[in-house]
Amino acid sequence: MNENHQFQTLKSIAELYKRIPNTKCKGCGKCCQHAIQPAPEEVCRMGGYSWDGKCVHLVDGGCAVYENRPFVCRLFGASEVLQCDDCFADRYLTAEETSELVRQFVRLKTEQEGVGHNNDTVLN
Ligand code: SF4
Ligand code: SF4
Repeated sequence: MNENHQFQTLKSIAELYKRIPNTKCKGCGKCCQHAIQPAPEEVCRMGGYSWDGKCVHLVDGGCAVYENRPFVCRLFGASEVLQCDDCFADRYLTAEETSELVRQFVRLKTEQEGVGHNNDTVLN
């Protein structure tokens, strides 16, 4: 295994979430106008996902599933290459860290799509 803790192969999307710095999000919902591609387990936790010019979970200008928001929603505003003009992060992931987390997310998402996701596999 890589000695660099940050670039370990992570086994769950929950582990990815823990690598994302906290942001002080104003909840303006501007970023929720863009379609996203959550992993199957994330769709399960959100109770489904659809987009019709905005995310279905954007309700009254805020995220109705904030505690269960997916990887990409957590990443936005927390990376030096995905900065939000309206919120601040505890620290910003570097471009290299961001690429690595995205690479690992895509790997886990692809694995889930390949085997067919089952609600019993939702992370803990
Ligand atoms: S991340 Fe930024 S754009 Fe998205 S809801 Fe929060 S403050 Fe608004
Ligand atoms: S899940 Fe929440 S944070 Fe993510 S796009 Fe939808 S409303 Fe926005």
